[in-house]
Amino acid sequence: MSSKKHSVVIIGFGGMGSYHAQLIKENASLEVIGTYDLLDYRQAASVEAGYSVYKSFEDVLVDPQVEIVLIATPNDVHTEITIDALRAGKHVICEKPVASSKAEFEEMLAVAAEANRILMVHQNRRWDEDFLVIKEMYERETIGTLFQIESRVHGANGIPGDWRHIKAQGGGMLLDWGVHLLDQLLFLIDSKITSVTSHLSYILGNEVDDGFEAILQFENGVKALIEVGTTNFITLPRWYVKGLEGTAIIEDWSLTGKIVTRNHDSVIIEPKPIRAGVGLTKTMAPPSEGATVTEALPSAAQLPSSFYDNFVAVIEGKAEPIVTNAEVLRVLNLIEVIFEAAETHQVVQDFDIY
Ligand code: NAD
Repeated sequence: MSSKKHSVVIIGFGGMGSYHAQLIKENASLEVIGTYDLLDYRQAASVEAGYSVYKSFEDVLVDPQVEIVLIATPNDVHTEITIDALRAGKHVICEKPVASSKAEFEEMLAVAAEANRILMVHQNRRWDEDFLVIKEMYERETIGTLFQIESRVHGANGIPGDWRHIKAQGGGMLLDWGVHLLDQLLFLIDSKITSVTSHLSYILGNEVDDGFEAILQFENGVKALIEVGTTNFITLPRWYVKGLEGTAIIEDWSLTGKIVTRNHDSVIIEPKPIRAGVGLTKTMAPPSEGATVTEALPSAAQLPSSFYDNFVAVIEGKAEPIVTNAEVLRVLNLIEVIFEAAETHQVVQDFDIY
């Protein structure tokens, strides 16, 4: 990696912009040389945090010191800011969702190619440890071949902030958490999606979805449920996955969880019927003693580099991106299919997003 630090200017110094600034402080190859936000009080917050602020976005574009523009504004302005930055000769890191449609992203990619600059989308949750544990289990078949993956995030705070409530600004939970969960899933499963069903919820009466469920069927046999909820006062586990040899659960981001697998060493004894409610059941009786083994979760799979280090290696021509634009395009395509499935109340099968 280069000893020289690459200069970054952050556009949008809100929640995520200020978080990027903190994280970049710990990176040996990147340096935030300034920020720009439309709002005076966010400009003031940046000065208070010790950064130089630009007076306008145009000032950022014409500053030859600026190598990288990092975009952390609301979703609706990602495209125009990215295109202007690329045309001004800057590399771009853009927050997710990079665009509000596949067509918009294709336009951004055309400009990046024309300008010969790198555009990389901050799909940071590929580095989440809980996801990387699932990746490890999927790839190593720790609980046998996985055939069902349930990935959920639940909160009880409704839709946060302001612009996330507004459709024209790219609000709603499918475009917010949905992008992360779908990106993780498609990064994990290298197989064509053959059908999609979905439901968007509007419990809180906003013009955008406050949650959704999508069921995806993959050609390799995996079925996935992706669910985001913002009205869940009791949360379901972050991950629930089933393999041919066992089941795994990850409760939360702190990796509370376990795997339970079939015990091949035990003599199979039929479970005894139990009373359940006012009835009797053998089907739902717990496995007989010794029939299963409970173990800790495996350690997480590793990615070759952090997001920022990978980005630096990509702009220096030393590595391929971990988050590829083809993958990002595939997720945007899938999101369009999920919206269509929800609107039409149909199983959508006639698409090609491999
Ligand atoms: P936010 O509202 O906290 O911050 C956005 C900031 O952008 C505000 O300060 C606003 O004044 C500023 N802004 C708006 N339009 C601008 C413009 N044209 N030029 C300059 N500044 C402008 O929002 P947030 O929660 O920080 O989200 C910002 C982006 O980051 C969104 O795209 C969101 O999806 C993404 N995000 C990503 C993650 C992640 O983990 N990858 C987490 C949170 C948010």
